[in-house]
Amino acid sequence: MLYEASVCRGVSIISNTKAHSYALALHGGAGAKTGENYTIVEQHLSELAAQGEAMLNQSKAAVDVVEEMTREMEASGLYVAGKGSAPNVSGQVELDASIMDGTAQQAGAVAAIRDVVHPVAVARAVMDQSPSVMLAGEGANDFAQGHGFATVDNPSAYYVLPVGVSEEDVTVSDMQHGTVGAVALDMHGNLAAATSTGGVFGKPAGRVGDTPIIGVGTWADQDIAISCTGTGEYFIRAGGALTVANRYKLAGDTLEQALWHMLDDVAALGGDGGVIAVSSSGEIAMAFNSDGMKRASVSNTAPPAATTFAPCR
Ligand code: ASP
Repeated sequence: MLYEASVCRGVSIISNTKAHSYALALHGGAGAKTGENYTIVEQHLSELAAQGEAMLNQSKAAVDVVEEMTREMEASGLYVAGKGSAPNVSGQVELDASIMDGTAQQAGAVAAIRDVVHPVAVARAVMDQSPSVMLAGEGANDFAQGHGFATVDNPSAYYVLPVGVSEEDVTVSDMQHGTVGAVALDMHGNLAAATSTGGVFGKPAGRVGDTPIIGVGTWADQDIAISCTGTGEYFIRAGGALTVANRYKLAGDTLEQALWHMLDDVAALGGDGGVIAVSSSGEIAMAFNSDGMKRASVSNTAPPAATTFAPCR
């Protein structure tokens, strides 16, 4: 269970108003299925939250923390991202990732990039070392190669099925999916978000979901940081992360209401998924309308905790 959290309808809210606040939330995708055992994933997320907390306690920047958390999840093979990614119908793995530093609203993203070990690190380099916000396909591959990023030499030996996904799931192609994401508030009051995915199993070649689209899969500004997970087509059509931000900042929604307004729009279109967010006051909210969302959080008022299936009211 999450600490100091009120949990209902799949929402966890943690309030945090102390000075020098820090807060971190992680998700491992909202594609969790009832009946599956995600203990190993929850343990991993809990350990990562503790690692992230240590970084935040060392005054590390939120953008560095969310990148590191996402890199760890990409490398683990436990999630549909990085090593655990979903092959497309051609059997190739195409990856999407994005990162946003809310401090000056800088962002970087890669879409349909092939066989890099850490797509989020390439997205970070697009943000820091290029005039672009998003690079896709061959251009993204060339950029990664030119900047010396580690690549997967032997894809069939590297990629593994993540926890909760079977060979049968892959061949059935019923949009089995997953994603990883992180949002953080650092001790300097800065916010950042990152999201990385292998997308959905059985996707057509060249299919790009919400994850690399700044303002849909990922958003961070001076007030809020957001990472989404779910069937990306619906999140794109519902507006995704920036819809949450605008509802929170402009429409007077609480953080929880803002998450649910966007998820309700996703549901009205026929989709499902989840979203995590942290505000500049250190409030964390995590909501999903799928079976479950693997997730963890930590802040200066609550120790690391992870869960997947929340009790409903
Ligand atoms: N949003 C991702 C995509 O559509 C998948 C997921 O989050 O599970 O590519």
